[in-house]
Amino acid sequence: MARAGRRCDLHRSTNFAVTGLDNCDPASLSPAPLRLRLSGSALADNWRWLAAQSAGAACGAAVKADGYGLGAREVVSRLRSVGCANFFVATWAEAEHLAPVIGDANLSVLHGLRAADVEVAARSSARPVLNSVEQVARWRAIGGGLCDVMVDTGMNRLGLTLAEACSGLLDGLSIDTLMSHLACADEDVAMNREQLHRFHAVAGGIACARRSIANSAGICLGPEFALDLTRPGLALYGGIPRAEAKGQIVQVAFPEAEVLQVRRVPQGERVGYNATWTAKHDTTVAILNIGYADGYMRGFSDTGEFDFAGACLAVIGRVSMDLVAVEVPDACDIVEGDRATAMFDLACACGASGLSQYELLTALGQRYMREWG
Ligand SMILES: *Cc1c(COP(=O)(O)O)cnc(C)c1O
Repeated sequence: MARAGRRCDLHRSTNFAVTGLDNCDPASLSPAPLRLRLSGSALADNWRWLAAQSAGAACGAAVKADGYGLGAREVVSRLRSVGCANFFVATWAEAEHLAPVIGDANLSVLHGLRAADVEVAARSSARPVLNSVEQVARWRAIGGGLCDVMVDTGMNRLGLTLAEACSGLLDGLSIDTLMSHLACADEDVAMNREQLHRFHAVAGGIACARRSIANSAGICLGPEFALDLTRPGLALYGGIPRAEAKGQIVQVAFPEAEVLQVRRVPQGERVGYNATWTAKHDTTVAILNIGYADGYMRGFSDTGEFDFAGACLAVIGRVSMDLVAVEVPDACDIVEGDRATAMFDLACACGASGLSQYELLTALGQRYMREWG
């Protein structure tokens, strides 16, 4: 046991503070079973790189879906302290959650103003991104203060059509940011520049303080996409949206699971649901307390990897809801209570699991203690 303790200490970084602002339930006496180690310096460095690539434009941050699963309050606090002053959430509930940390930064609500949002929006310091004729009317009806407006330039997701945006509908509205969103910024296709041209054409006729079109991948497309404000999300959190970001954007989130049991599986025995894996020889197997309920999805079956003190532990058989089996190499001495770190470099994990980098992050569940270091 003493040896296991030492190895554990070697493996864990000691200077990671437990903040758990978003996730720690103070009423709960049992410690969270899983750990999500989060690097504040990686987050800050990623933002700085994206800000530098933004060619003089302000660089904001998309922090919807609880900061892509990492914890929105912590993300906002940390990015504010390095100079980020523009944040984007999807919903008013997400905006309200950020009230304690948003300070005087701009906060925009991308889903705009649903009928059910009018009351909370009227007393919020966040502003809506108005997406439709109905939303514009609703905003005007409650006084129509400073807002953002989304125009659709070809994605046909949210936003006013070009015709609506140019119809006089927006006359007299106080628009901070006029924005659009790129459908294929992660690809080299003509549509990117076509959307940019359409956006310039419509933006020319609409009074606004700032224009914005680039997400993470859009920033990588080059300075002409930066305009006045950029809106990265994925790349802040370690996602590689395009080749230009390789070697620049670094991993932020490191899920760690604990060994519940180590067993010896004799040759010919099988492991896991549906017995999909058969031991070719006697094999040491460790059972870890992580599964698809923790965002460690079934796509990692037979393809995922964990690291323990430099040894690679390969996932064998099917990932279960709360458990996964890994093969322990002969030289590796892992015991109950040891923690192993999931291979979660997003580009690699995406290749291994078939999940998108976005899905990998946003599926991380509530069973992790989030620890920022
Ligand atoms: C989510 C979102 C972003 C951020 O996109 P990433 O691809 O994560 O960088 C930017 N703008 C809008 C409108 C979004 O919905």
